Amino acid sequence: MSVDIINRLRHWSEGPPRVWLREAGQAPVSYAQLWQDTGRYVAALADLGVAKGDRVLVQVEKSPEVLVIYLACLRLGAVFLPVNPGYTSAETAYFLADASPALVIVDHAGDMGGSHVRSLTGFVAHAVAMAVDFVDPPHAADDLAAILYTSGTTGRSKGVMLTRGNLASNSEALVGVWRFSDADVLLHALPVFHTHGLFVATNCVLCAGASMIFHRAFGAAAVLADLPAASVMMGVPTFYTRLLAEPALTVQAVAGVRLFISGSAPLSPTTFAAWEARTGQRILERYGMTETGMITSNPDAGERRAGTVGQALPGVSVRIADAVDGVGGIEVAGPNVFQGYWGKPEQTAAEFRADGYFVTGDLGSFDAEGYLSISGRAKDLVITGGLNVYPAEVEAALDRLPGVAASAVIGVPHPDFGEAVVACVVASGPVDPEALRVALRGGLAAFKVPKRIIVVDDLPRNAMGKVQKAELRKVYVGVFGG
Ligand code: AMP
Repeated sequence: MSVDIINRLRHWSEGPPRVWLREAGQAPVSYAQLWQDTGRYVAALADLGVAKGDRVLVQVEKSPEVLVIYLACLRLGAVFLPVNPGYTSAETAYFLADASPALVIVDHAGDMGGSHVRSLTGFVAHAVAMAVDFVDPPHAADDLAAILYTSGTTGRSKGVMLTRGNLASNSEALVGVWRFSDADVLLHALPVFHTHGLFVATNCVLCAGASMIFHRAFGAAAVLADLPAASVMMGVPTFYTRLLAEPALTVQAVAGVRLFISGSAPLSPTTFAAWEARTGQRILERYGMTETGMITSNPDAGERRAGTVGQALPGVSVRIADAVDGVGGIEVAGPNVFQGYWGKPEQTAAEFRADGYFVTGDLGSFDAEGYLSISGRAKDLVITGGLNVYPAEVEAALDRLPGVAASAVIGVPHPDFGEAVVACVVASGPVDPEALRVALRGGLAAFKVPKRIIVVDDLPRNAMGKVQKAELRKVYVGVFGG
């Protein structure tokens, strides 16, 4: 039988005592305790009428209890549906209508009416009073495990249906490539409503029998203080830039960490180099998305190439379609690829090729050793005077220049060129946009050099640190009088 997350959890809960989760000010939680807690939570879910296949929508601040609910859903066969607590009630109303959950768990039950709504504390109190003797039913690899809504930068967000097999196969591949073991301690400071913190981080720990140091939010000082006790950290690129701003980040401060992993947004080669210079360690970058789990990764054991997201994971097939000069659409097939968008068969069909490959919407190219470089989202590609400009290439060139802390390149309407390249730059010191343009001309063809560079205080980012380019395009749509 293929690997299942719950089988791994049970395995570790039956072995010698081992810690699953530590949090400052709280008693450590063992795997045995986690098994019992999930048993009580399953009993509470069932008591509230939740059955196999039912959706359980959870919109609460990050806490260990969220992970216990996730695992209880897996044990029961219910479908875990986490929602970013930052969403407004109007936004959440859409998920409620779309997914019709049997149970909704929120921080404050009063905020949302309905007999199927519980507060987190109310639900936990209910669970604590339940027995732990739940007998796990058999599950199939293609049973639905979770629905995660895409961030939906264009149009309405879609519910990504992930199966138990999707989750298990992906964590098995990652545990292998990252050489996770029961000796590892992961510093977990990511949100748990997104694939990165929920599945990549949590499932790797569970499958390997490792433990985690749980932070409810990312704070650079708090993370630095706990790094000596950790062996692995997973982060979005912003974690790394914020840690670099801390003078206390030194070789000694991270000496016990064997692996720093980055993903969810492009890690700039400048940050990669700055991290290596400060700590002596090379950040391992990987690439994935909600629909596919992780797709590629740089190796733990081999060379980590800056500016690349590494090679296809074992069992995952990646190809480049319709390439122009090597760059084309990234397409993926494998046991990691989702079942489809909830209730949207036409939109699902539109994103798959006839031979089963999923069209990621990202553009990229492989080098001779099979390392993938991401050139940006297809919809962010700039076509200026008929020539393609890949934002990632221009951003990497800008980020290397003194005085540039971060950059985002977009296309905006232009009367002559159709679209023109525009860069928004966050300064780390004095910068002169004209001097930046001159400096870029040394390394980039003229058509790639931004026609306009705009210095901004900050870039609009989502919870995972991804720059919201659609927002920028809206703001700067008229800069050339278009
Ligand atoms: P999400 O579904 O929210 O995880 O977003 C997935 C998207 O994030 C991918 O399709 C990529 O566009 C982007 N992404 C994830 N990891 C990376 C990475 N290492 N480098 C560049 N883009 C990334």
